Amino acid sequence: MNLNESIENTASVKCPSCANLAFDSEVVCSQCNYPLKGTEQDQKDFLFDQDMRSVDVDTADKQLKKARNMLYYIAVIYVLSGFVTYAKNQHLAGVSLG
Ligand SMILES: [Zn+2]
Repeated sequence: MNLNESIENTASVKCPSCANLAFDSEVVCSQCNYPLKGTEQDQKDFLFDQDMRSVDVDTADKQLKKARNMLYYIAVIYVLSGFVTYAKNQHLAGVSLG
């Protein structure tokens, strides 16, 4: 019972950005730096910045996937050309022995 009361007293603010339960005394959210005690404009700016950042992450993720595909194709080409070279060498070796 006492524990529940103390939790309610110390963590009474729910962060609108990340739903973290923040201490009422905190100026910014300890999880995401949301300005709990900031002005309405501060809070709007913060959420706007977060949107921008998530878009950036999305773009970076796509670029990473593209780069990964490129590496995959390069690896396939490299392996194929290596195999062709190996087969040619085997053929030449066979001819010189025969
Ligand atoms: Zn937060």
